[in-house]
Amino acid sequence: MDFTLNDEQRMYQDAVRNFCEREIAPFAAEIDKSGQLRMDAIAKMPDLGLTGLQVPEEYGGADLDSICTAIAMEELGAVCGSTGLSVEAHNELCCLPIVKWGTDEQKQRFLPRLTSGEVLGSLALTEPDAGSDLTGTQTRAVKDGSEWVINGSKAWITNASLAPVIVTLVKTQPDAGSAGFSQMLIETDRAGLEIAPPEKKMGTCASPAHVLTFTDVRVPVENLLGQEGRGLHQTLATLDSGRIAVGALCVGLARAAFQHALAYTQERQAFGQRLVDHQAIQFKLADAATQIEAARLLVYRAAWAKDRGEKYTRLASMAKLFASEIVESIAFEAIQIHGGYGYSREFPLERIYRDQRVMSIGEGTSEINRIVIARQLLAN
Ligand SMILES: Cc1cc2nc3c(=O)[nH]c(=O)nc-3n(C[C@H](O)[C@H](O)[C@H](O)COP(=O)(O)OP(=O)(O)OC[C@H]3O[C@@H](n4cnc5c(N)ncnc54)[C@H](O)[C@@H]3O)c2cc1C
Repeated sequence: MDFTLNDEQRMYQDAVRNFCEREIAPFAAEIDKSGQLRMDAIAKMPDLGLTGLQVPEEYGGADLDSICTAIAMEELGAVCGSTGLSVEAHNELCCLPIVKWGTDEQKQRFLPRLTSGEVLGSLALTEPDAGSDLTGTQTRAVKDGSEWVINGSKAWITNASLAPVIVTLVKTQPDAGSAGFSQMLIETDRAGLEIAPPEKKMGTCASPAHVLTFTDVRVPVENLLGQEGRGLHQTLATLDSGRIAVGALCVGLARAAFQHALAYTQERQAFGQRLVDHQAIQFKLADAATQIEAARLLVYRAAWAKDRGEKYTRLASMAKLFASEIVESIAFEAIQIHGGYGYSREFPLERIYRDQRVMSIGEGTSEINRIVIARQLLAN
């Protein structure tokens, strides 16, 4: 067993960290206020493979492994939750399903543009009346000659306004139970697709999330992604991989909160000594450092299993569940350590606290991940 990153992974970590500190960190507070992602920074990401992490090189990607993907997500999360979330959704939720289930023609048609740094991709699952329970999906696709006709609506779709194409979960056979769903590639310039203005959110404010409305949207039959009737299966497999990346984003957010707290405890004085000299404060720092280490190990463990071709559903849910819950408590304690300053908009902690909150909701709530883990335990 070897717990060290190899040379390639370490060099990649250094390169992504430098990029994030130079191109993203200085603007994180500004984009949180403006609600606009910095597309200039996204445009520079292809040089580091960040817009096509696991996309083959022939389509403009970097063809990296899942450990490098986790490394990239941690670095993004450590500087900006908004940028991290949008880049995560682009890679894991849009590019990866196309890599995994797309035909050669679909890969040629969509991936070079998606990896170009000019756009970000989307996945549309959630609907106004169905989130955790994807079998409640009502958006309907009906075959009409050589086309699918799509009607329905989706909610909370990250990056939709920046995307050329949205991987969309639709119902293709109403009476077929879990085999009644399919994934459809829907270009955003199709007539009948309306993308509402971005939601006003508590955090990750520069990562746009939208309501979509489909009114008789027509796509050619060639836009079916993967097999008809396998949409639910494809979606759950997509979420498995995405959960490792969300776990890594959480490790990054937690690391940032911890580092701010560690630095502050060495500057601030109370009762005649530095905060860090109070044992109660040392305990908070010790707990946070331990939790970050454990979360990162769980993320790497799941990524490693994925790269080895092993089943990793349970590990991915564990990584996402644990990391998204420890980042909440670490961000809470980091604010506590800052006292009143922690509550100020002038300090980055309140942004980290708001940004991390979605991590235990999106791509499977904590409750759903506990259900996934328990099912896997009981199945063995
Ligand atoms: C910022 C943001 C970005 C998002 N981006 C996307 C995106 O790009 N694409 C997309 O498709 N969706 C996206 N979502 C939606 C997200 O995936 C859903 O919000 C999430 O899956 C939960 O669904 P829901 O909100 O409908 O909650 P519900 O499913 O209604 O759940 C409500 C509560 O009930 C709990 N619950 C549900 N079922 C059970 C059960 N069986 N047992 C115990 N508890 C249960 C849930 O855990 C939750 O606490 C995003 C959401 C946010 C906030």
